[in-house]
Amino acid sequence: MGPDVTPNGANDNGTDDDVTITVLGSSGSYPGPGSACSGYLLRHQGFRLWLDAGPGTMANLQTHIGLADVDAVVLSHEHPDHWSDLDGFYIACRYVETRTDVPIYAPAGLCDMMRSEIDEQSPFDWREITDKTKVAIGPFQFTFSRTDHPPETLAARIEPAGNPRVLGYTADTGPAWAIEELGLGLDLVVSEATFLHDREGTSPHMSARQAGTAARAAQAKRLLITHIWPIVDPEQSVAEAREAFGGPVEYARMNATYQL
Ligand SMILES: [Zn+2]
Ligand SMILES: [Zn+2]
Repeated sequence: MGPDVTPNGANDNGTDDDVTITVLGSSGSYPGPGSACSGYLLRHQGFRLWLDAGPGTMANLQTHIGLADVDAVVLSHEHPDHWSDLDGFYIACRYVETRTDVPIYAPAGLCDMMRSEIDEQSPFDWREITDKTKVAIGPFQFTFSRTDHPPETLAARIEPAGNPRVLGYTADTGPAWAIEELGLGLDLVVSEATFLHDREGTSPHMSARQAGTAARAAQAKRLLITHIWPIVDPEQSVAEAREAFGGPVEYARMNATYQL
Protein backbone atom coordinates (compact mmCIF):
# COMPACT_ATOMS: atom_id res chain seq x y z
CA MET A 1 0.00 0.00 0.00
CA GLY A 2 1.32 3.40 -0.92
CA PRO A 3 1.50 6.52 1.18
CA ASP A 4 -1.62 8.08 2.63
CA VAL A 5 0.08 11.40 3.10
CA THR A 6 1.02 13.36 0.04
CA PRO A 7 3.49 16.18 -0.43
CA ASN A 8 0.70 18.70 -0.05
CA GLY A 9 -0.24 17.23 3.31
CA ALA A 10 -3.66 15.67 2.75
CA ASN A 11 -4.32 12.66 4.92
CA ASP A 12 -6.31 9.63 3.82
CA ASN A 13 -9.59 10.67 5.32
CA GLY A 14 -9.47 14.42 5.13
CA THR A 15 -12.10 16.42 6.97
CA ASP A 16 -15.62 17.22 5.91
CA ASP A 17 -14.53 20.46 4.29
CA ASP A 18 -11.76 18.81 2.31
CA VAL A 19 -12.18 17.34 -1.10
CA THR A 20 -9.82 14.42 -1.54
CA ILE A 21 -9.00 12.19 -4.44
CA THR A 22 -7.37 8.86 -3.70
CA VAL A 23 -5.73 7.04 -6.60
CA LEU A 24 -6.93 3.42 -6.76
CA GLY A 25 -4.94 2.74 -9.91
CA SER A 26 -3.19 4.66 -12.68
CA SER A 27 -1.85 2.08 -15.13
CA GLY A 28 -3.00 2.85 -18.66
CA SER A 29 -4.87 0.29 -20.79
CA TYR A 30 -3.64 -2.79 -18.89
CA PRO A 31 -2.39 -3.44 -15.36
CA GLY A 32 1.33 -3.34 -14.65
CA PRO A 33 3.26 -5.51 -12.21
CA GLY A 34 1.41 -5.04 -8.90
CA SER A 35 -0.44 -2.00 -10.19
CA ALA A 36 -4.09 -1.38 -11.00
CA CYS A 37 -5.77 0.35 -13.93
CA SER A 38 -7.80 3.57 -13.78
CA GLY A 39 -9.81 4.28 -10.64
CA TYR A 40 -10.21 7.07 -8.08
CA LEU A 41 -12.03 7.56 -4.81
CA LEU A 42 -13.47 11.05 -4.38
CA ARG A 43 -14.53 12.11 -0.89
CA HIS A 44 -16.32 15.20 0.31
CA GLN A 45 -18.78 15.89 3.13
CA GLY A 46 -18.85 12.20 4.02
CA PHE A 47 -19.84 11.14 0.48
CA ARG A 48 -17.68 8.52 -1.25
CA LEU A 49 -17.67 8.28 -5.03
CA TRP A 50 -15.82 5.64 -7.04
CA LEU A 51 -14.74 7.15 -10.36
CA ASP A 52 -13.77 4.47 -12.88
CA ALA A 53 -13.34 0.89 -11.76
CA GLY A 54 -10.50 -0.68 -13.70
CA PRO A 55 -8.94 -4.03 -12.76
CA GLY A 56 -7.30 -3.92 -9.33
CA THR A 57 -9.16 -0.83 -8.14
CA MET A 58 -11.71 -2.75 -6.05
CA ALA A 59 -8.90 -4.40 -4.08
CA ASN A 60 -7.28 -1.03 -3.43
CA LEU A 61 -10.61 0.65 -2.66
CA GLN A 62 -11.08 -1.67 0.30
CA THR A 63 -7.82 -0.52 1.87
CA HIS A 64 -9.47 2.92 2.21
CA ILE A 65 -13.22 2.31 2.73
CA GLY A 66 -15.64 -0.61 2.91
CA LEU A 67 -17.74 -1.71 -0.05
CA ALA A 68 -20.89 -0.72 1.85
CA ASP A 69 -19.51 2.82 2.01
CA VAL A 70 -19.52 3.43 -1.75
CA ASP A 71 -22.30 5.96 -2.35
CA ALA A 72 -22.10 6.14 -6.15
CA VAL A 73 -20.01 4.94 -9.08
CA VAL A 74 -19.18 6.94 -12.22
CA LEU A 75 -17.73 5.15 -15.25
CA SER A 76 -16.18 7.13 -18.10
CA HIS A 77 -16.49 4.57 -20.91
CA GLU A 78 -16.80 0.95 -21.86
CA HIS A 79 -13.16 -0.02 -22.19
CA PRO A 80 -12.59 -2.71 -19.54
CA ASP A 81 -9.56 -0.97 -18.04
CA HIS A 82 -12.11 1.56 -16.70
CA TRP A 83 -14.90 -0.65 -15.37
CA SER A 84 -14.14 -4.41 -15.18
CA ASP A 85 -14.00 -4.48 -11.36
CA LEU A 86 -17.70 -3.62 -11.37
CA ASP A 87 -18.36 -7.35 -11.85
CA GLY A 88 -16.88 -8.11 -8.43
CA PHE A 89 -18.66 -5.12 -6.91
CA TYR A 90 -21.96 -6.49 -8.28
CA ILE A 91 -21.41 -9.84 -6.53
CA ALA A 92 -20.41 -8.19 -3.26
CA CYS A 93 -23.35 -5.76 -3.32
CA ARG A 94 -25.91 -8.40 -4.19
CA TYR A 95 -24.88 -11.43 -2.15
CA VAL A 96 -22.67 -10.11 0.64
CA GLU A 97 -23.73 -6.58 1.47
CA THR A 98 -27.30 -7.07 0.13
CA ARG A 99 -27.35 -3.53 -1.14
CA THR A 100 -29.95 -2.11 -3.52
CA ASP A 101 -30.20 0.99 -5.68
CA VAL A 102 -26.48 1.72 -5.84
CA PRO A 103 -26.31 4.49 -8.46
CA ILE A 104 -24.01 3.72 -11.40
CA TYR A 105 -23.53 6.54 -13.91
CA ALA A 106 -22.21 5.49 -17.32
CA PRO A 107 -22.54 6.20 -21.06
CA ALA A 108 -25.36 4.40 -22.89
CA GLY A 109 -23.11 1.78 -24.48
CA LEU A 110 -21.88 0.54 -21.12
CA CYS A 111 -25.35 0.73 -19.53
CA ASP A 112 -26.77 -1.41 -22.36
CA MET A 113 -23.95 -3.91 -22.17
CA MET A 114 -24.37 -4.39 -18.42
CA ARG A 115 -28.15 -4.21 -18.24
CA SER A 116 -28.48 -7.15 -20.65
CA GLU A 117 -27.02 -9.49 -18.07
CA ILE A 118 -28.77 -8.00 -15.07
CA ASP A 119 -31.94 -9.36 -13.49
CA GLU A 120 -34.54 -7.73 -11.32
CA GLN A 121 -32.52 -8.30 -8.18
CA SER A 122 -29.70 -6.13 -9.47
CA PRO A 123 -28.17 -4.04 -6.72
CA PHE A 124 -27.42 -1.37 -9.31
CA ASP A 125 -29.46 1.60 -10.49
CA TRP A 126 -28.01 2.44 -13.93
CA ARG A 127 -28.16 6.09 -14.95
CA GLU A 128 -27.12 7.18 -18.44
CA ILE A 129 -24.84 10.12 -18.94
CA THR A 130 -23.65 11.70 -22.17
CA ASP A 131 -21.93 14.78 -23.60
CA LYS A 132 -23.01 17.92 -21.69
CA THR A 133 -24.96 16.02 -19.02
CA LYS A 134 -25.02 18.05 -15.80
CA VAL A 135 -25.89 16.09 -12.69
CA ALA A 136 -25.45 16.41 -8.94
CA ILE A 137 -24.04 13.22 -7.46
CA GLY A 138 -24.02 13.67 -3.71
CA PRO A 139 -22.12 16.92 -3.04
CA PHE A 140 -20.44 16.86 -6.46
CA GLN A 141 -21.77 18.71 -9.49
CA PHE A 142 -20.63 16.82 -12.59
CA THR A 143 -20.59 18.21 -16.12
CA PHE A 144 -19.52 15.71 -18.76
CA SER A 145 -17.73 16.31 -22.04
CA ARG A 146 -17.21 13.78 -24.81
CA THR A 147 -13.54 13.27 -25.59
CA ASP A 148 -11.49 12.24 -28.61
CA HIS A 149 -11.60 8.51 -27.86
CA PRO A 150 -13.86 5.78 -29.25
CA PRO A 151 -16.39 4.60 -28.08
CA GLU A 152 -18.25 7.42 -26.28
CA THR A 153 -15.90 8.53 -23.52
CA LEU A 154 -16.78 11.21 -21.00
CA ALA A 155 -14.41 13.59 -19.28
CA ALA A 156 -15.79 15.44 -16.26
CA ARG A 157 -15.75 18.85 -14.65
CA ILE A 158 -16.38 18.22 -10.95
CA GLU A 159 -17.48 21.02 -8.62
CA PRO A 160 -17.79 20.18 -4.93
CA ALA A 161 -20.57 21.85 -2.93
CA GLY A 162 -19.41 24.54 -0.53
CA ASN A 163 -15.90 24.63 -1.98
CA PRO A 164 -14.79 27.00 -4.72
CA ARG A 165 -12.24 24.62 -6.19
CA VAL A 166 -12.83 22.67 -9.38
CA LEU A 167 -11.48 19.28 -10.42
CA GLY A 168 -11.15 18.09 -14.01
CA TYR A 169 -10.82 14.49 -15.16
CA THR A 170 -9.98 13.80 -18.79
CA ALA A 171 -10.77 10.06 -18.78
CA ASP A 172 -9.19 8.71 -22.01
CA THR A 173 -8.67 11.06 -24.92
CA GLY A 174 -6.56 11.85 -27.92
CA PRO A 175 -5.29 15.40 -28.49
CA ALA A 176 -8.26 16.49 -30.63
CA TRP A 177 -10.28 17.15 -27.47
CA ALA A 178 -9.19 20.08 -25.29
CA ILE A 179 -9.05 20.18 -21.50
CA GLU A 180 -10.52 23.68 -21.70
CA GLU A 181 -13.82 22.01 -22.63
CA LEU A 182 -14.00 21.49 -18.85
CA GLY A 183 -13.46 25.21 -18.28
CA LEU A 184 -10.43 27.45 -17.86
CA GLY A 185 -8.46 27.61 -14.63
CA LEU A 186 -9.19 24.18 -13.15
CA ASP A 187 -7.55 23.90 -9.73
CA LEU A 188 -6.47 20.32 -10.42
CA VAL A 189 -6.67 18.36 -13.64
CA VAL A 190 -6.25 14.61 -13.60
CA SER A 191 -5.15 13.92 -17.15
CA GLU A 192 -4.34 10.85 -19.07
CA ALA A 193 -0.74 10.76 -20.31
CA THR A 194 -0.54 7.29 -21.76
CA PHE A 195 2.93 7.39 -23.33
CA LEU A 196 5.83 9.68 -24.15
CA HIS A 197 6.07 11.98 -27.18
CA ASP A 198 7.72 9.32 -29.37
CA ARG A 199 4.38 7.49 -29.68
CA GLU A 200 2.17 10.49 -30.40
CA GLY A 201 -0.44 9.74 -33.04
CA THR A 202 -0.20 5.95 -32.75
CA SER A 203 -3.46 5.47 -30.77
CA PRO A 204 -6.29 7.68 -29.43
CA HIS A 205 -4.39 8.80 -26.34
CA MET A 206 -2.13 11.65 -25.31
CA SER A 207 1.56 11.71 -24.55
CA ALA A 208 2.76 13.35 -21.36
CA ARG A 209 3.87 16.29 -23.50
CA GLN A 210 0.41 16.64 -25.05
CA ALA A 211 -1.19 16.45 -21.60
CA GLY A 212 1.09 19.24 -20.40
CA THR A 213 0.38 21.37 -23.47
CA ALA A 214 -3.39 20.85 -23.09
CA ALA A 215 -3.31 21.69 -19.37
CA ARG A 216 -1.33 24.85 -20.10
CA ALA A 217 -3.82 25.95 -22.77
CA ALA A 218 -6.62 25.41 -20.25
CA GLN A 219 -4.73 27.50 -17.66
CA ALA A 220 -4.97 24.66 -15.15
CA LYS A 221 -3.23 25.27 -11.84
CA ARG A 222 -1.98 21.74 -11.08
CA LEU A 223 -1.61 18.64 -13.20
CA LEU A 224 -1.78 15.04 -12.03
CA ILE A 225 -0.90 12.67 -14.85
CA THR A 226 -2.35 9.18 -14.97
CA HIS A 227 -3.27 6.28 -17.30
CA ILE A 228 0.44 5.70 -17.91
CA TRP A 229 1.37 2.54 -19.76
CA PRO A 230 3.31 0.16 -17.49
CA ILE A 231 6.28 0.21 -19.91
CA VAL A 232 6.72 3.96 -19.40
CA ASP A 233 8.85 5.40 -16.57
CA PRO A 234 6.48 7.82 -14.81
CA GLU A 235 9.34 10.08 -13.79
CA GLN A 236 10.09 10.62 -17.47
CA SER A 237 6.40 11.34 -18.03
CA VAL A 238 6.44 13.92 -15.26
CA ALA A 239 9.53 15.60 -16.72
CA GLU A 240 7.97 15.72 -20.19
CA ALA A 241 4.61 17.00 -18.92
CA ARG A 242 6.25 19.58 -16.66
CA GLU A 243 8.29 21.06 -19.50
CA ALA A 244 5.16 21.49 -21.62
CA PHE A 245 2.91 22.65 -18.78
CA GLY A 246 5.26 25.00 -16.95
CA GLY A 247 3.50 24.39 -13.62
CA PRO A 248 3.33 21.75 -10.88
CA VAL A 249 3.03 18.17 -12.14
CA GLU A 250 2.88 14.88 -10.27
CA TYR A 251 1.99 11.41 -11.40
CA ALA A 252 -0.93 9.63 -9.79
CA ARG A 253 0.72 7.24 -7.37
CA MET A 254 -1.46 4.26 -6.51
CA ASN A 255 -3.10 4.65 -3.07
CA ALA A 256 -1.87 8.22 -2.63
CA THR A 257 -4.45 10.80 -1.57
CA TYR A 258 -4.42 14.30 -3.02
CA GLN A 259 -6.33 17.29 -1.76
CA LEU A 260 -8.19 19.43 -4.27
ZN1 LIG B 1 -8.02 3.39 -20.73
ZN1 LIG C 1 -10.26 3.78 -23.35
